[in-house]
Amino acid sequence: MIVILKPEATEAQTDVLRKEITREGVIVQEIRGDGTRMFGLAGNTSGILAESVLRHTFVERVVKVSEPYKLAGRRFHPADTVVELPSGHKIGGGELAVIAGPCSVESEEQILSIARDVKLAGANFLRGGAFKPRSSPYAFQGLGLDGLNLLKIAREKTGLPVVTEIMSQEYCDVFARDVDIIQIGARNMQNFPLLREVGGLGKPVLLKRGASCTIDEMLQAADYVLGRGKNSVILCERGIRTFETATRNTLDLSAVPVLKKRSHLPVVVDPSHGTGHWDLVWPMAMAAVAAGADGLMIEVHDRPEQALCDGQQSITPLLFDRMMQKIKTIHDVMREDGERYGRKRTTDDAA
Ligand code: PEP
Ligand code: MN
Repeated sequence: MIVILKPEATEAQTDVLRKEITREGVIVQEIRGDGTRMFGLAGNTSGILAESVLRHTFVERVVKVSEPYKLAGRRFHPADTVVELPSGHKIGGGELAVIAGPCSVESEEQILSIARDVKLAGANFLRGGAFKPRSSPYAFQGLGLDGLNLLKIAREKTGLPVVTEIMSQEYCDVFARDVDIIQIGARNMQNFPLLREVGGLGKPVLLKRGASCTIDEMLQAADYVLGRGKNSVILCERGIRTFETATRNTLDLSAVPVLKKRSHLPVVVDPSHGTGHWDLVWPMAMAAVAAGADGLMIEVHDRPEQALCDGQQSITPLLFDRMMQKIKTIHDVMREDGERYGRKRTTDDAA
Protein backbone atom coordinates (compact mmCIF):
# COMPACT_ATOMS: atom_id res chain seq x y z
CA MET A 1 0.00 0.00 0.00
CA ILE A 2 1.23 3.50 -0.79
CA VAL A 3 -0.13 6.56 1.01
CA ILE A 4 0.40 9.72 -1.02
CA LEU A 5 0.44 12.83 1.17
CA LYS A 6 -0.68 16.32 0.23
CA PRO A 7 2.20 18.80 -0.08
CA GLU A 8 0.84 20.84 2.84
CA ALA A 9 0.89 17.89 5.28
CA THR A 10 2.79 18.89 8.42
CA GLU A 11 5.29 16.76 10.33
CA ALA A 12 2.92 16.59 13.32
CA GLN A 13 0.11 15.28 11.13
CA THR A 14 2.22 12.69 9.37
CA ASP A 15 3.64 11.53 12.72
CA VAL A 16 0.10 10.74 13.88
CA LEU A 17 -0.51 8.73 10.71
CA ARG A 18 2.82 6.96 10.97
CA LYS A 19 2.01 5.84 14.54
CA GLU A 20 -1.41 4.68 13.45
CA ILE A 21 -0.13 2.47 10.63
CA THR A 22 3.06 1.19 12.25
CA ARG A 23 2.54 -2.28 13.65
CA GLU A 24 4.13 -5.71 13.91
CA GLY A 25 4.98 -7.10 10.48
CA VAL A 26 4.54 -3.81 8.60
CA ILE A 27 7.46 -1.74 7.34
CA VAL A 28 6.66 1.94 6.84
CA GLN A 29 9.11 3.83 4.69
CA GLU A 30 8.84 7.47 3.79
CA ILE A 31 9.62 8.25 0.17
CA ARG A 32 10.33 11.83 -0.87
CA GLY A 33 10.59 12.91 -4.50
CA ASP A 34 10.47 16.25 -6.28
CA GLY A 35 7.59 17.85 -4.45
CA THR A 36 6.01 14.51 -3.58
CA ARG A 37 5.89 12.74 -0.26
CA MET A 38 4.50 9.33 0.50
CA PHE A 39 4.57 6.41 2.88
CA GLY A 40 5.37 3.04 1.33
CA LEU A 41 3.92 0.22 3.43
CA ALA A 42 5.43 -3.20 2.98
CA GLY A 43 4.74 -6.47 4.75
CA ASN A 44 1.39 -7.64 6.05
CA THR A 45 -0.82 -4.61 5.40
CA SER A 46 -4.08 -6.59 5.46
CA GLY A 47 -5.12 -4.97 8.78
CA ILE A 48 -4.76 -1.42 7.43
CA LEU A 49 -7.92 -0.10 5.81
CA ALA A 50 -7.59 2.45 3.02
CA GLU A 51 -10.80 4.16 4.22
CA SER A 52 -9.40 4.86 7.68
CA VAL A 53 -6.16 6.27 6.20
CA LEU A 54 -8.20 8.46 3.84
CA ARG A 55 -10.06 9.99 6.80
CA HIS A 56 -7.00 12.19 7.32
CA THR A 57 -7.51 15.33 5.31
CA PHE A 58 -3.80 15.62 4.51
CA VAL A 59 -3.81 12.30 2.65
CA GLU A 60 -4.15 12.75 -1.08
CA ARG A 61 -4.58 9.16 -2.21
CA VAL A 62 -4.07 5.55 -1.21
CA VAL A 63 -2.84 3.12 -3.83
CA LYS A 64 -2.90 -0.63 -3.37
CA VAL A 65 0.18 -2.25 -4.89
CA SER A 66 -0.17 -5.64 -6.48
CA GLU A 67 3.56 -6.43 -6.78
CA PRO A 68 4.86 -8.43 -3.81
CA TYR A 69 7.79 -6.01 -3.47
CA LYS A 70 7.58 -2.28 -3.04
CA LEU A 71 10.80 -0.58 -2.04
CA ALA A 72 12.80 -2.29 -4.80
CA GLY A 73 10.10 -1.64 -7.40
CA ARG A 74 10.11 1.06 -10.05
CA ARG A 75 6.51 2.00 -9.53
CA PHE A 76 7.19 4.43 -6.70
CA HIS A 77 10.80 5.07 -7.52
CA PRO A 78 10.90 5.64 -11.27
CA ALA A 79 14.46 7.00 -11.44
CA ASP A 80 17.43 4.61 -11.56
CA THR A 81 19.28 4.30 -8.28
CA VAL A 82 22.99 4.97 -8.49
CA VAL A 83 24.94 3.45 -5.61
CA GLU A 84 27.79 5.73 -4.66
CA LEU A 85 30.52 4.97 -2.13
CA PRO A 86 32.22 7.67 -0.03
CA SER A 87 35.28 7.09 -2.24
CA GLY A 88 33.23 8.24 -5.26
CA HIS A 89 33.05 4.79 -6.87
CA LYS A 90 29.63 4.19 -8.41
CA ILE A 91 27.44 1.33 -9.54
CA GLY A 92 24.68 2.35 -11.94
CA GLY A 93 24.26 5.63 -13.72
CA GLY A 94 25.95 4.80 -16.99
CA GLU A 95 29.48 3.71 -16.07
CA LEU A 96 30.20 -0.01 -16.12
CA ALA A 97 31.15 -1.34 -12.68
CA VAL A 98 33.57 -4.24 -12.86
CA ILE A 99 34.08 -6.23 -9.67
CA ALA A 100 36.96 -8.64 -10.15
CA GLY A 101 39.21 -10.82 -8.05
CA PRO A 102 39.66 -14.35 -6.80
CA CYS A 103 36.89 -16.55 -5.50
CA SER A 104 38.71 -16.68 -2.15
CA VAL A 105 41.44 -14.67 -0.51
CA GLU A 106 44.30 -17.18 -0.09
CA SER A 107 47.35 -15.13 0.95
CA GLU A 108 48.63 -11.56 1.01
CA GLU A 109 50.79 -12.17 -2.03
CA GLN A 110 47.89 -13.69 -3.98
CA ILE A 111 45.31 -10.99 -3.26
CA LEU A 112 47.77 -8.13 -3.81
CA SER A 113 49.02 -9.44 -7.11
CA ILE A 114 45.49 -10.12 -8.45
CA ALA A 115 44.17 -6.78 -7.15
CA ARG A 116 46.96 -4.90 -8.95
CA ASP A 117 46.41 -6.84 -12.17
CA VAL A 118 42.65 -6.36 -12.29
CA LYS A 119 42.98 -2.68 -11.49
CA LEU A 120 45.44 -2.21 -14.33
CA ALA A 121 43.00 -3.95 -16.68
CA GLY A 122 40.21 -1.55 -15.69
CA ALA A 123 38.33 -3.21 -12.80
CA ASN A 124 36.96 -0.68 -10.33
CA PHE A 125 36.09 -2.97 -7.39
CA LEU A 126 37.94 -5.92 -5.81
CA ARG A 127 36.14 -9.13 -4.89
CA GLY A 128 37.49 -11.93 -2.70
CA GLY A 129 35.77 -14.32 -0.33
CA ALA A 130 36.96 -14.48 3.28
CA PHE A 131 33.98 -16.45 4.59
CA LYS A 132 33.16 -19.06 1.95
CA PRO A 133 29.83 -20.87 1.64
CA ARG A 134 31.10 -24.28 0.47
CA SER A 135 28.79 -27.17 -0.34
CA SER A 136 31.24 -29.60 1.24
CA PRO A 137 32.16 -29.16 4.90
CA TYR A 138 35.58 -30.63 4.01
CA ALA A 139 36.40 -27.96 1.41
CA PHE A 140 38.44 -24.78 2.11
CA GLN A 141 36.16 -22.49 4.10
CA GLY A 142 38.08 -19.23 3.61
CA LEU A 143 40.54 -17.37 5.84
CA GLY A 144 37.79 -15.64 7.84
CA LEU A 145 38.87 -12.50 9.68
CA ASP A 146 42.45 -12.89 8.43
CA GLY A 147 41.03 -12.79 4.90
CA LEU A 148 39.18 -9.54 5.67
CA ASN A 149 42.43 -8.01 6.91
CA LEU A 150 44.18 -8.99 3.69
CA LEU A 151 41.39 -7.37 1.69
CA LYS A 152 41.91 -4.18 3.68
CA ILE A 153 45.60 -4.24 2.81
CA ALA A 154 44.74 -4.74 -0.87
CA ARG A 155 42.33 -1.80 -0.73
CA GLU A 156 44.96 0.37 0.87
CA LYS A 157 47.53 -0.50 -1.80
CA THR A 158 45.26 -0.25 -4.84
CA GLY A 159 42.41 2.07 -3.83
CA LEU A 160 39.90 -0.53 -5.01
CA PRO A 161 36.81 -0.79 -2.78
CA VAL A 162 36.22 -4.27 -1.43
CA VAL A 163 33.20 -6.52 -2.05
CA THR A 164 33.02 -9.61 0.14
CA GLU A 165 30.41 -12.03 1.44
CA ILE A 166 28.90 -12.09 4.90
CA MET A 167 27.51 -15.42 6.08
CA SER A 168 26.39 -14.74 9.60
CA GLN A 169 25.04 -11.93 11.76
CA GLU A 170 27.92 -12.58 14.13
CA TYR A 171 30.25 -10.49 11.92
CA CYS A 172 27.94 -7.58 11.13
CA ASP A 173 29.96 -5.05 13.12
CA VAL A 174 33.24 -6.04 11.47
CA PHE A 175 31.71 -5.92 7.99
CA ALA A 176 30.07 -2.55 8.67
CA ARG A 177 33.50 -1.20 9.61
CA ASP A 178 35.82 -2.88 7.13
CA VAL A 179 33.92 -3.74 3.95
CA ASP A 180 32.79 -1.31 1.23
CA ILE A 181 30.01 -3.43 -0.30
CA ILE A 182 28.59 -6.34 1.67
CA GLN A 183 27.75 -9.36 -0.45
CA ILE A 184 24.84 -11.65 0.38
CA GLY A 185 25.50 -14.90 -1.45
CA ALA A 186 23.03 -17.02 -3.38
CA ARG A 187 22.69 -19.46 -0.49
CA ASN A 188 21.67 -16.70 1.90
CA MET A 189 19.37 -14.72 -0.38
CA GLN A 190 16.41 -15.88 1.68
CA ASN A 191 18.11 -15.81 5.08
CA PHE A 192 15.65 -13.19 6.26
CA PRO A 193 17.14 -12.42 9.70
CA LEU A 194 20.53 -11.87 8.00
CA LEU A 195 18.96 -9.62 5.35
CA ARG A 196 17.28 -7.51 8.02
CA GLU A 197 20.41 -7.21 10.12
CA VAL A 198 22.63 -6.31 7.15
CA GLY A 199 19.95 -3.82 6.10
CA GLY A 200 20.67 -1.85 9.25
CA LEU A 201 24.42 -1.48 8.69
CA GLY A 202 24.41 1.54 6.39
CA LYS A 203 26.62 -0.10 3.74
CA PRO A 204 25.55 -1.00 0.17
CA VAL A 205 24.56 -4.63 -0.23
CA LEU A 206 25.24 -6.77 -3.28
CA LEU A 207 22.40 -9.28 -3.28
CA LYS A 208 22.97 -12.42 -5.32
CA ARG A 209 20.04 -14.31 -6.75
CA GLY A 210 19.31 -17.60 -4.99
CA ALA A 211 19.89 -20.58 -7.28
CA SER A 212 16.22 -21.56 -7.09
CA CYS A 213 14.69 -18.15 -6.66
CA THR A 214 12.38 -16.24 -8.94
CA ILE A 215 12.82 -12.59 -9.80
CA ASP A 216 9.89 -11.71 -7.54
CA GLU A 217 11.55 -13.51 -4.65
CA MET A 218 14.80 -11.67 -5.31
CA LEU A 219 13.06 -8.32 -5.25
CA GLN A 220 11.25 -9.25 -2.05
CA ALA A 221 14.63 -10.15 -0.53
CA ALA A 222 15.85 -6.68 -1.60
CA ASP A 223 12.84 -5.19 0.22
CA TYR A 224 14.00 -6.88 3.44
CA VAL A 225 17.33 -5.09 3.14
CA LEU A 226 15.81 -1.79 2.04
CA GLY A 227 13.13 -1.95 4.75
CA ARG A 228 15.51 -0.57 7.35
CA GLY A 229 15.84 2.54 5.20
CA LYS A 230 19.62 2.67 5.61
CA ASN A 231 21.13 0.76 2.71
CA SER A 232 21.11 0.64 -1.03
CA VAL A 233 21.07 -2.66 -2.89
CA ILE A 234 22.78 -3.91 -6.05
CA LEU A 235 21.09 -6.94 -7.62
CA CYS A 236 23.28 -9.73 -9.00
CA GLU A 237 22.18 -12.39 -11.48
CA ARG A 238 24.49 -15.41 -11.00
CA GLY A 239 22.61 -18.24 -12.66
CA ILE A 240 19.82 -20.51 -11.54
CA ARG A 241 19.58 -24.25 -11.21
CA THR A 242 17.88 -25.97 -14.14
CA PHE A 243 17.95 -29.46 -15.70
CA GLU A 244 20.98 -28.41 -17.81
CA THR A 245 24.27 -29.91 -16.67
CA ALA A 246 26.61 -28.56 -19.36
CA THR A 247 27.05 -25.45 -17.24
CA ARG A 248 27.24 -25.13 -13.44
CA ASN A 249 24.12 -22.95 -13.41
CA THR A 250 21.96 -21.53 -16.17
CA LEU A 251 22.78 -17.84 -16.47
CA ASP A 252 19.42 -16.11 -16.85
CA LEU A 253 20.36 -13.07 -18.89
CA SER A 254 16.74 -12.20 -19.52
CA ALA A 255 16.75 -11.33 -15.81
CA VAL A 256 18.74 -8.20 -16.69
CA PRO A 257 16.08 -6.37 -18.73
CA VAL A 258 13.31 -7.82 -16.54
CA LEU A 259 14.97 -6.49 -13.38
CA LYS A 260 15.72 -3.16 -15.03
CA LYS A 261 12.07 -2.86 -16.01
CA ARG A 262 10.70 -3.78 -12.60
CA SER A 263 13.29 -2.26 -10.32
CA HIS A 264 15.25 0.97 -9.99
CA LEU A 265 18.23 -0.87 -8.46
CA PRO A 266 21.49 -1.43 -10.39
CA VAL A 267 21.96 -4.91 -11.85
CA VAL A 268 25.25 -6.74 -12.19
CA VAL A 269 25.92 -10.16 -13.69
CA ASP A 270 28.31 -12.87 -12.50
CA PRO A 271 29.16 -15.09 -15.48
CA SER A 272 31.77 -17.00 -13.43
CA HIS A 273 29.29 -18.69 -11.09
CA GLY A 274 26.67 -18.42 -13.82
CA THR A 275 28.55 -20.80 -16.13
CA GLY A 276 31.18 -22.54 -13.98
CA HIS A 277 33.68 -22.67 -16.89
CA TRP A 278 36.46 -20.14 -17.48
CA ASP A 279 36.06 -20.25 -21.27
CA LEU A 280 32.37 -19.33 -21.05
CA VAL A 281 32.99 -16.25 -18.91
CA TRP A 282 34.06 -13.96 -21.75
CA PRO A 283 31.10 -14.59 -24.10
CA MET A 284 28.56 -14.35 -21.28
CA ALA A 285 30.18 -11.22 -19.87
CA MET A 286 29.82 -9.56 -23.26
CA ALA A 287 26.24 -10.74 -23.55
CA ALA A 288 25.47 -9.38 -20.07
CA VAL A 289 26.75 -5.92 -21.00
CA ALA A 290 24.82 -6.06 -24.28
CA ALA A 291 21.70 -6.98 -22.28
CA GLY A 292 22.10 -3.74 -20.31
CA ALA A 293 23.84 -4.82 -17.10
CA ASP A 294 25.29 -2.02 -14.96
CA GLY A 295 28.25 -4.17 -14.03
CA LEU A 296 30.00 -7.52 -13.92
CA MET A 297 31.44 -9.71 -11.20
CA ILE A 298 34.31 -11.81 -12.53
CA GLU A 299 36.52 -14.38 -10.81
CA VAL A 300 40.18 -13.86 -11.69
CA HIS A 301 43.09 -16.00 -10.43
CA ASP A 302 46.78 -15.81 -11.36
CA ARG A 303 47.15 -19.60 -11.05
CA PRO A 304 43.66 -21.00 -11.63
CA GLU A 305 44.83 -24.62 -11.56
CA GLN A 306 46.07 -24.12 -7.97
CA ALA A 307 43.14 -22.03 -6.71
CA LEU A 308 41.66 -23.22 -3.42
CA CYS A 309 38.17 -22.54 -4.74
CA ASP A 310 36.53 -22.25 -8.18
CA GLY A 311 39.71 -22.41 -10.27
CA GLN A 312 37.78 -24.04 -13.12
CA GLN A 313 35.72 -20.89 -13.62
CA SER A 314 38.45 -18.35 -12.94
CA ILE A 315 40.14 -16.50 -15.78
CA THR A 316 43.77 -15.36 -15.72
CA PRO A 317 44.68 -11.67 -15.41
CA LEU A 318 45.90 -11.78 -19.02
CA LEU A 319 42.56 -13.03 -20.33
CA PHE A 320 40.73 -10.58 -18.07
CA ASP A 321 42.71 -7.74 -19.58
CA ARG A 322 41.88 -8.82 -23.13
CA MET A 323 38.24 -9.32 -22.23
CA MET A 324 38.00 -5.86 -20.67
CA GLN A 325 39.02 -4.22 -23.93
CA LYS A 326 36.16 -5.90 -25.79
CA ILE A 327 33.75 -5.23 -22.96
CA LYS A 328 34.52 -1.51 -23.12
CA THR A 329 33.64 -1.47 -26.81
CA ILE A 330 30.31 -3.16 -26.17
CA HIS A 331 29.56 -0.88 -23.28
CA ASP A 332 30.21 2.18 -25.43
CA VAL A 333 27.70 0.91 -27.97
CA MET A 334 25.14 0.33 -25.21
CA ARG A 335 25.69 3.80 -23.85
CA GLU A 336 24.89 5.29 -27.25
CA ASP A 337 21.72 3.24 -27.31
CA GLY A 338 20.33 5.47 -24.55
CA GLU A 339 16.83 4.63 -23.42
CA ARG A 340 16.63 0.90 -23.45
CA TYR A 341 14.07 0.23 -20.79
CA GLY A 342 10.47 1.10 -20.30
CA ARG A 343 10.08 1.88 -23.97
CA LYS A 344 6.56 2.30 -25.21
CA ARG A 345 5.69 0.23 -28.26
CA THR A 346 5.83 2.41 -31.37
CA THR A 347 4.75 1.70 -34.90
CA ASP A 348 8.41 1.09 -35.73
CA ASP A 349 8.70 -1.58 -33.02
CA ALA A 350 5.54 -3.28 -34.13
CA ALA A 351 6.69 -3.47 -37.76
C1 PEP B 1 30.82 -15.89 -4.55
O1 PEP B 1 30.56 -14.90 -5.25
O2 PEP B 1 31.90 -16.04 -3.98
C2 PEP B 1 29.80 -16.95 -4.40
C3 PEP B 1 29.95 -17.93 -3.53
O3 PEP B 1 28.79 -16.81 -5.24
P1 PEP B 1 27.27 -17.38 -5.16
O4 PEP B 1 26.74 -16.96 -3.81
O5 PEP B 1 26.61 -16.70 -6.31
O6 PEP B 1 27.35 -18.87 -5.31
MN1 MN C 1 33.47 -18.66 -6.40
